[in-house]
This record gives sequence, structure tokens and C-alpha cells, in this order.
Amino acid sequence: MEYLVLNGHYNLMQNISEIDGLVKLISKLPGLGPKSAKRIVLKLINNRDELIKPMAKVLAEVYKNISRCKICGSLKSNLNGCNNCENNKNKYTKICVVENIADQWSIESSSIYQGYFHILGGTISSSNNQRKEDLLINSLVTRVKKDNIEEVILATSATVEGQTTAFYIQDSLKNTNVKISKLAQGLPVGGEIENLDDGTLISAFKNRTSIENGTD
Ligand SMILES: [Zn+2]
Repeated sequence: MEYLVLNGHYNLMQNISEIDGLVKLISKLPGLGPKSAKRIVLKLINNRDELIKPMAKVLAEVYKNISRCKICGSLKSNLNGCNNCENNKNKYTKICVVENIADQWSIESSSIYQGYFHILGGTISSSNNQRKEDLLINSLVTRVKKDNIEEVILATSATVEGQTTAFYIQDSLKNTNVKISKLAQGLPVGGEIENLDDGTLISAFKNRTSIENGTD
């Protein structure tokens, strides 16, 4: 088998279309360029039974069973329902709105917040095609009413898109009586939640400011 005798001459892999295709796919993953993708592919090929076979099976299962919850935006298994909202035994009075799951993980690991999460899955931006419907904002309004939520904490990034999105959400909630707050201004401009250190995040939560809500 010619690919087993490559000895690090990655360029030789290019002539096999299956391998070439896999390298291209893996280079699309975060933090990986073509060179590291080739090293990964070589590792996979040299460990067919230990890596490729179980990985192919797990990928097929993830593709089939994992989807985004249409209520809260989190990832869920279609077999068990959503742990973030449906199966959540705790009853909270707060919802924290974040752009993505990595942001939720950062906030959870800082232990500053106890409550539900709502994952937008992006921001409103003029430069991309993110549709407002995809951000599950209608579903957020429904959750606020249905779960008797007392406070919505907007934890979107300190970027133009993040702030535009926060404003749009605030507007969408104006007919509810919920208290709306946003993270303190201590956030560095352009700061994305997932990249903040715990200290900054905790202080931004503690010092969060209330936003005027309602039409009165
Ligand atoms: Zn959910």
C-alpha cells in the first residue's frame, strides 16, 4: 500500500483523490491548515481500525442524532431531548442570552451565573446572511412569557454586531414586563465572551446594568 511508506513526504499523498478530499475537509476545521491536516490524515490512515473505523461510526451517529434545539438554540440529542431547556429540572427566573455555545461554556465555568441559557447561534449583521429568524428571538420571547422569567441578561459581544443584536432583542422584548440587563461596560471593545478571562467575566456579570424596558 503506497501510502504507508510515505515517511513524512506529505506531498506524495496528493495524488490519491480520497486522501486529497479528506485533507481538504480537515483543513476546514478550526486551527488547522493543510500541513496539520495532512499529518492528521496520515495518522488516521496508519490507524485504520483504532481511529478511522470508530470515527466514521461516531460521525454518522452525530450527523443523525445531534441537532440544534429550536427552543433554546443549544445542541441536543434527538434521542433524549434538550438538557438545556426540556430536561432542565431546575426552575430559574433568569435567561442569559449568548451568541454561541462556547460563550455558554465560558459563563458556566466561571460559576457566576445560575439560570437558563439562550443560544442565538450568531449575530445580526449587514455583512453576512444570518437571518433574524435563525437567531430564535421569537422563541426567546415565548420562553420569557411561558417560564415566568424575571430577568433577561444580554451577554452578546462588545462588537458592533453584538450590540446591534442586543438592541434588536431588547426591542423584541418590549411588550413583556421582563427586566433586561446587559453585561457591564468593563468588557473590552470588540471583546468576545468566550475569550474573556474569568475575572473580567465575573465583574461584567456583577456590574451588569439594567436597560429601560416597556412602552411606559
Ligand atoms: Zn433547548
